Amino acid sequence: MQNGKIGVTTENIFPVIKQFLYSDREIFLREIVSNAVDATQKLKTLSSKGEFKGELGDLTVHVTVGKDTITVSDRGLGMTASEIDKYINQIAFSGANDFLEKYKNEASAIIGHFGLGFYSAFMVSKKVEIITKSYQEGAQAVKWSCDGSPEFQLSDADKSDRGTDIVLHIDDDSKEYLQETAIQGLLKKYCRFLPVPIACGKKKEWKDGKEVETDQDNVMNNVEPLWTKTPSELKDEDYKSFYRELYPMQDEPMFWIHLNVDFPFHLTGILYFPKIKSNLDLQKNRIHLYCNQVFVTDNVEGIVPDFMTLLHGVIDSPDIPLNVSRSYLQSDSNVKKISGYITKKVADRLSQIFKNDRKDFESKWDDVKLFINYGMLTEEDFYSKMEKIALMKDTDGKYFTFEEYKTLIESAQTDKDKNLIYLYATDRESQYGYIESAKSKGYSVLLMDNSLDVAVIGMLEQKFGQNSRFMRVDSDTIDRLIVKDDAKADRLPDTSMRMITKVFSSQLPKIEKADFHVDAQPLGENALPVMITCSEYMRRMKDMAAIQSGMSFYGDMPDMYNVVLNTDHKLIKTVLADAESSCSEQVKPIQTELDALKELKAQDNKDEKETIESQISEKESAIDGIYSDFSKDNKIVHELIDLALLQNGMLKGEALSRFIRRSVELI
Ligand code: ADP
Ligand code: MG
Repeated sequence: MQNGKIGVTTENIFPVIKQFLYSDREIFLREIVSNAVDATQKLKTLSSKGEFKGELGDLTVHVTVGKDTITVSDRGLGMTASEIDKYINQIAFSGANDFLEKYKNEASAIIGHFGLGFYSAFMVSKKVEIITKSYQEGAQAVKWSCDGSPEFQLSDADKSDRGTDIVLHIDDDSKEYLQETAIQGLLKKYCRFLPVPIACGKKKEWKDGKEVETDQDNVMNNVEPLWTKTPSELKDEDYKSFYRELYPMQDEPMFWIHLNVDFPFHLTGILYFPKIKSNLDLQKNRIHLYCNQVFVTDNVEGIVPDFMTLLHGVIDSPDIPLNVSRSYLQSDSNVKKISGYITKKVADRLSQIFKNDRKDFESKWDDVKLFINYGMLTEEDFYSKMEKIALMKDTDGKYFTFEEYKTLIESAQTDKDKNLIYLYATDRESQYGYIESAKSKGYSVLLMDNSLDVAVIGMLEQKFGQNSRFMRVDSDTIDRLIVKDDAKADRLPDTSMRMITKVFSSQLPKIEKADFHVDAQPLGENALPVMITCSEYMRRMKDMAAIQSGMSFYGDMPDMYNVVLNTDHKLIKTVLADAESSCSEQVKPIQTELDALKELKAQDNKDEKETIESQISEKESAIDGIYSDFSKDNKIVHELIDLALLQNGMLKGEALSRFIRRSVELI
C-alpha cells in the first residue's frame, strides 16, 4: 500500500476542476470512455507492430451503471503502478502525448486531446478508483483510489484480465447519472461514432407484449462512420442513409461534399446542403464537430464562417484546439486555415454543379440561394468565388447569371442619364399589375421575394457600381422609373390640376399608418386611370428599420403612398370635365378674389402679410369644399379609388363590401 500526493502544484485543484474547467459536467463520460478507447487503440497498434503477442479478443468497452457507481471497463493496454504514477498522479504528463511522440505515424487514431480528461471524473464523483492490469507479461494488477483531495492510495489488486476498470462513486448531487437511460443518452451524444464498440446494458426485445432484456450487449456506436471511409467506395445512397442517421427528421439533402485533407492540418468530414426554404430559420440541426470520432460540440461558430452554419453534417479534426475559449479559437491559425479550406471546398462544389449541369443547378437554386446569398453578403472571399455562378430569377421563373442579366436588360433599361435600372418585384401576385405594365414596355422584372433580398439588393448596387440601380416595379409609374427622354408631356393648367387632385384626395379613406399624396400625370391612354406607388427610398428605409435597430424613426413613420391620376385616361378626363361644368359657376367668384389676394401678397406688404395669408387659405379651402362636395357622391371617383386600393391590397372590411355593392349597381 502506498499513500501519496498527486503531482499538482496547488493544493486544491479539484474545486477548480469542478467549477471552472468544465461547464458541462456531463462530459466526464466522454473523457473516461475516450480514455478507454485510446487504451484499446494503443493495444491494437502494439499488436500490429508485434510488440504485443497475445490475443486481442473482444475489445468492447463496457459502461455499467450500478446503485452508486458507474464503471467503465476496457480491455486495452492497462497500466502498471509506475505508469499510474506517471500518467495519473502527475497531471502534467499526458500519456497520450508521450505515446504520440513515440508512434507519430500510426497513432493518428488516438484521441488524447482534451487535457485534463481523466480528472473530469471528479466533477460528478466523490471517489474514483482505477483497477488496472497492464498487457505486459507477468504484470501485477493495481488499484488506485482517490476521494477528491490531492491524496491518493495505491495498492496491489486482484484482476485476472488485462485492461482497466474506472469506478466512479457518484456524488450525491450527481445522482441523475445513476440511470442507465441517462448514461445511454450521453453515450449516444458523445460516443456515437467512436472506433471501438461501446456497450451499455443489454439489448431489449419485445416478447409477448412486453419488453424484455436479451443477453446481447447493447452496443451504442457505429465504429466506422461514413466520413472515415474512402469517397470512391461510397454510393449516393450511403451518403443519404448516413444523413438520415444524423438527422432522422429531415428532408433528403440536395448534395454533399466529402472533406478529406492531410496537410497542413488533418480534417475529414461530410457537409450536406439541406433544402433551406424558409427565411433564415435558424437550423436546429447543425454541423457536428468531432475530434477523432469523439463528439465535441454542435456549435461550430468561430470554426467555420457564419453562413456555413446553415449546412449540415460532420467535421472531424484533431487539429482544432478544443479546450479553449471561442475568442481564442477565432485567432488560431489552424482554425483560420480550416475555415478557408472549407469555404473553398464548398465554392468548388457549387461551381462544379454549375459547370456540369446548369439545369440541375437552376433546379436547386431556390433551395441554396439563401445559403449562397448569405455567404456572399458576409464573406468577401465567397462573393468573388460566387459572382460568376450566382443566379437571379425573373418573374417568369427564368434564371440568369449577373452577367447574363446585365446583357439582357442593358439596351432597353438604360435611362437617359445612362443609369441601368434593374426592376424587381417582391410579390408576383400583389404587384401583378405593375409587373405587367413593365413587361408591356419590353422590360424584364426580377423576383426578389426573400427576406434577405433587401440586403442582397444593397450589396449588388454596391458591387455593380454607380450606374446600376434597383427599383421596385411599384415604386413609381414605369415611365418615371426608367426615364427615356426629357420631353415634357402636356401638364394640366394649375387650376385644373388643383381641381382633379382635390376631387380625389378629398375622398381618400383614412387608413391607419398610411399617408397619401395625390398627383396627376399623363401616363398614356392605355395605362390605368389611377395608380398607387410607394417610393423606393422610403420603402427601403422602412425595410431596413424592420431588420435593424436604431432606425425606428423610419419604422414609426406612416407609409407614404403616391396616388397618381392618369390625365390621359378617358375616365379621368370625364371626371375632370364633369367637375369643371358643375363647379365652375361656384368657383369663379371665389377664384377672382383669390387671384386678387395673391396679387396683393406678391406686393410684399409686410404689415398685412398674416391677414392676407389667412384669407388666402380661407378662400382655398372654400374652393376645396366645392370640389369635395362634387365628388362626395361621384361614383366614378369612388370606384377608381377603390380599384387602386384593391390592387394594392389596401381595401378591406366595410370599404371592400361597399365597393362590391357599388360595382354591382354600376353594372
Ligand atoms: P489524455 O487522455 O489527454 O492523455 P487523460 O487525463 O484523459 O489525458 O488521461 C491521462 C492518462 O492516463 C492517459 O494518457 C493514459 O496514459 C492514462 N489512462 C487513462 N485512462 C486509461 C485507461 N482506461 N487505460 C490505460 N491508460 C489510461
Ligand atoms: Mg483522455
